[in-house]
Amino acid sequence: MSIIKDFLLQLTLMVIPIFVYFTFITEKVKSDNNKKVLMTFLWGISIILCISFPLSFGQDARLDLRFIPLLFGTLYLGFGPGVFLSVLVILYRLYSGINMGVYTTVLVLLLSLPVILFFQKTFVSSNKDKRIKIAVGLALYYCLVGLTSFGILNGFSLDIVKVQLIHLIFVVAVTWFFTMLMETIREIHQLRTELLNSEKLKVVSELSSVFAHEIRNPMQVTRGFLQLLDDPELPKSKKEYIKISIEELDRANEIIDDFLTFGKPTVNNNIKVNAGYQMERVINIIQGYSQNHHVKIQTKIEDDCWIDANPQKLNQSLINIMKNAVESMPNGGTVWVTCTATTDGNIEIMIKDQGIGMTKKQQDRLGSPFYSLKENGTGLGMMVSFQIIRSFKGTIKVNSEKGRGTEFIILLPQIFQTK
Ligand code: ADP
Ligand code: MG
Repeated sequence: MSIIKDFLLQLTLMVIPIFVYFTFITEKVKSDNNKKVLMTFLWGISIILCISFPLSFGQDARLDLRFIPLLFGTLYLGFGPGVFLSVLVILYRLYSGINMGVYTTVLVLLLSLPVILFFQKTFVSSNKDKRIKIAVGLALYYCLVGLTSFGILNGFSLDIVKVQLIHLIFVVAVTWFFTMLMETIREIHQLRTELLNSEKLKVVSELSSVFAHEIRNPMQVTRGFLQLLDDPELPKSKKEYIKISIEELDRANEIIDDFLTFGKPTVNNNIKVNAGYQMERVINIIQGYSQNHHVKIQTKIEDDCWIDANPQKLNQSLINIMKNAVESMPNGGTVWVTCTATTDGNIEIMIKDQGIGMTKKQQDRLGSPFYSLKENGTGLGMMVSFQIIRSFKGTIKVNSEKGRGTEFIILLPQIFQTK
């Protein structure tokens, strides 16, 4: 019974460093050097405990699995840790008294460490199967060297050979099992890392679609005005069209800047903005688009609606919402836009359409990336708009009824203009 206990304890001493490594060290410790130091330390403890609590059977036959932490430490961590762990084995054996066992230990280590180090480089660059073969081969070699050295130093006897053979079987089998275990867990971790990387790539491609989407708005508007400028019977003055076109191109430019700095932490470049004035600009910009869709825009905009915001971003989000409102009415209709100060210190922007509306389920999905019911939709406009409004510490509420229309209510903290 006690033999099984001892054996299980030895096994546990291998398992603990492996699980500590995969649970606490591999992802949480960033520097490779620190990882090495921690793992050398763990394998070191494991060696000391292995030697301290050997598997005893027969009269004074004692076996331990110290070779396995030493082998793993050397194969996975390299030259320095390998030498350190070997010295540790010798010192610890010396500490527990000088006898024949110490000589055997030193001799076996002197004969096996160079061989392990020789195979270390090949091991690191090999695949799972080859690694298992190398580790098992080295374990076999170590045990044979141990058997021979022990025999030479202590003389051969049937009992000794028997004990050494049992040792060999143990060490080789356990080495095989733990190398398998290590490699399988490593494979799983690698897969996970690859998955994370592909997730990052997805975000990048997602961002580039947002980019294209956002840049297209000002381009379409500018194109519309340029077309209008070609018209000999201009409804408005040339100057105004050119002014708006230039403003739109500037906007595109700023969006590009925004996206280039997207990865970096955003500096809060908010300023005092008159939300009403921005609303009027946005309506001006979207006018051509809504007329094409036979949509009228009715406004009620109060003066003095000051908020803390970035005007380009605010416009970007308002355009997205108004564009959706226009697009929700394929047969034309009216969009109501209001901007008022509420009594509780907020600015309320309301955009209401008489369009197709949304079911409860559709409303829940609103704002998630790529959610679009339109043939050429990107499903990104709402996501961006929600993000922008939230970044101004605002909230968006959506009331919608299928077939009747949708109402967006944006609340933003009002700031009071001191003159
Ligand atoms: P896109 O406009 O490219 O489809 P959005 O993120 O702007 O992407 O909108 C996502 C979806 O939300 C739209 O496809 C539409 O189905 C729905 N939606 C947004 N606004 C409205 C609205 N005012 N009325 C009805 N449906 C809307
Ligand atoms: Mg949209």
